[in-house]
Amino acid sequence: MRYLVLSDIHANLQALEAVLADAAAAGYDRTVVLGDLVGYGGDPNAVVERVRSLEPVVIRGNHDKVCAGLEPPHTFNMVARIAAEWTLQTLAPANRQYLADLPLGPQTVDGRFEICHGSPYDEDLYVFDEIEAQQSLRTAARPLCLFGHTHVPVQWSLGPAGLEMTAPRDGDGLVIELVEGVRYLINPGSVGQPRDGDPRAAYAFVEPDAGRVSLRRVAYPVEAAQAAILNAELPAVLARRLSVGR
Ligand code: ZN
Repeated sequence: MRYLVLSDIHANLQALEAVLADAAAAGYDRTVVLGDLVGYGGDPNAVVERVRSLEPVVIRGNHDKVCAGLEPPHTFNMVARIAAEWTLQTLAPANRQYLADLPLGPQTVDGRFEICHGSPYDEDLYVFDEIEAQQSLRTAARPLCLFGHTHVPVQWSLGPAGLEMTAPRDGDGLVIELVEGVRYLINPGSVGQPRDGDPRAAYAFVEPDAGRVSLRRVAYPVEAAQAAILNAELPAVLARRLSVGR
C-alpha cells in the first residue's frame, strides 16, 4: 500500500497537476491531504474540485477555515488576509461547503499513521523548533505522524539516540527507512507554496508495510501559477515568492 501525501496546496493548480502526474507515473493507492487546499493561489475552485475527485483522507488547515468563512482572519498578515477574503468570495458554494466540512486533525489513516495540519495537539501551531517537535512526537497517537503548515520538508525522530532532525539536501529527495521503536514526525513540504528555497512542488509517499517514507520534488510551470495570481489581482508578492520558494 502506497499513500500519496499532499500538504499546503494553496490553490496552486499547476503545482498540484504536476505532483499528480509525477505520482501517477510512480504509482500509488490512496491520497492523503494535510490541509490548506486554498489561500494564496489563484485557482481555488479548480483545486478543491481536483482534490475532491481524488477521494482523499483529508483534514482542514488554518486557511481552509478562514477561506470557508468559519473563522475571521485575525491571525493573518495583510497579504494572507487579502487572499483569504478573495478566496471566500470566489469559491463556489459547494466548494466552500466542502472546505467548511473538512474534519479537524489529528486523524489516523487506516489505523497505520497519524496526520495533522500544524501539530497533533494544536492544528494551528507551527512546528519549527525542538521543543515543539518533541511535544508533538510525545503527543502523537501513532509512531508515525505527518504534519504540514510550515511548508518546509523535514524529518524529526525520537528514539534511543534522542531527538534528531534531518532535512533534504538541495535538490534531492529524502528516503526515510522507519526503524522499530523510533517515533517519527515528518513534513512532506508544500505542494503549492514551498518555503525552503526550492521552488519545486514538494510531496511524499508513505509505504507503511515497507516501513518507508519518501520526500519528493517535482518542477511545475511556475509562470502559469503566477499568472493566475496576477489575473485574480491578488498581491504580486504571492506570485513573486513562487519563483524563489520562500
Ligand atoms: Zn499552509
